[in-house]
Amino acid sequence: MSKTILVDIEGAISSLAFVKETLFPYAKEHIKDYILDNYEHEPKLFPIIDIVLEEVKNGNAQGISYDPTQVDIIIEAQLYTAIQALLQWMSEDKKITPLKELQGLIWEEGYQKSAFKGFIYEDAYNWLKKEKESGSAIYVYSSGSVKAQKLLFEHSAYGDIRELFTGFFDTKIGSKKAAESYKNIALEIAIPPREITFYSDIEDELKAASEAGLEVVQVRRKEDYEDSVESEYKLIDSFTGL
Ligand SMILES: [Mg+2]
Repeated sequence: MSKTILVDIEGAISSLAFVKETLFPYAKEHIKDYILDNYEHEPKLFPIIDIVLEEVKNGNAQGISYDPTQVDIIIEAQLYTAIQALLQWMSEDKKITPLKELQGLIWEEGYQKSAFKGFIYEDAYNWLKKEKESGSAIYVYSSGSVKAQKLLFEHSAYGDIRELFTGFFDTKIGSKKAAESYKNIALEIAIPPREITFYSDIEDELKAASEAGLEVVQVRRKEDYEDSVESEYKLIDSFTGL
């Protein structure tokens, strides 16, 4: 039977470890070299660096000061200020737009160089494929940007699997913990909320989706969570047999 599926990535079809142990460390390790190697020929970098320096000027990078005499004189000094701020935000796990955008660029390069592959659990991949073949529409809703989502699927261990998905949503549509976001998604895809099933590992997200009228399923994978949990929602530990 064909369905409308809305699926989370981290902790659902992909692992929490892929982000924590592969993507974030890779970005952190390459921020400095990526900026120094690319600032002269990557036009997407200029606006990012500008916003970073603006944030530093506004005092949003604690302990890092902006020296106005750097302007137009020593570009490299400005770059180092920006790098320092970016690394600091990364270690503080700050969700700042220019940082997210830069991470996206660095990951893109990493995927292209095959430094890593997008991780999808095998049972999840088989389930997505089976649902797609039976005519289900599958949408993604993740806090990672749509750009990062597409990169992961394009460079997955199973090849380019973007065609499995009908659409992609990130937090531009709203917070994953707000019922309004799920209503917005339902409106956007023009399907009544009750006909959509949302899969996620996070209880607050399931609560919000449920409030919006969606069917919800909690995914608690043994690979991602050691402890067992009681859920007020339907609970699965893999996509096998669904
Ligand atoms: Mg998740």
